[in-house]
Amino acid sequence: MSDPRLHGFECIPEMLRKFGEHVEWPRFTFELDPAHTLIMKLLRKGKHPGAASLEIKEGGLWLGYVTVAGEFQPTHNASRMPRPVKLLLWNLLQAIRLDPETAFAAHGIRTGTCCACGRTLTNAESVELGIGPICRERIFS
Ligand SMILES: [Zn+2]
Repeated sequence: MSDPRLHGFECIPEMLRKFGEHVEWPRFTFELDPAHTLIMKLLRKGKHPGAASLEIKEGGLWLGYVTVAGEFQPTHNASRMPRPVKLLLWNLLQAIRLDPETAFAAHGIRTGTCCACGRTLTNAESVELGIGPICRERIFS
């Protein structure tokens, strides 16, 4: 049995799959800090169809997969990141595992952008919810 802390993330590929019913290239984007942006993408083909791929946008640093069964399989890149960034990544993943809707909302409230479509949240309701209404419906309904 691998590390139980790396299990239980099946909501990530599941939400990407749902979002992918509406957009061609589903991805979620989370700013970890001003220099590190986490991107989660749905893998449609290849060795792990339906899994999520995690990477750091800056430099295209690939961090690993989240399988359909919800196991995070980190690459060596993930362990080599600076410790503060690793902590931010880990805290975000835990928050998503516990309550994805709240984690997405918290990100949107903090950054002012929708982590699904990347648009700036403009109307009062979206700003308060931390996610655009269309993306929210597509991912969480
Ligand atoms: Zn959106």
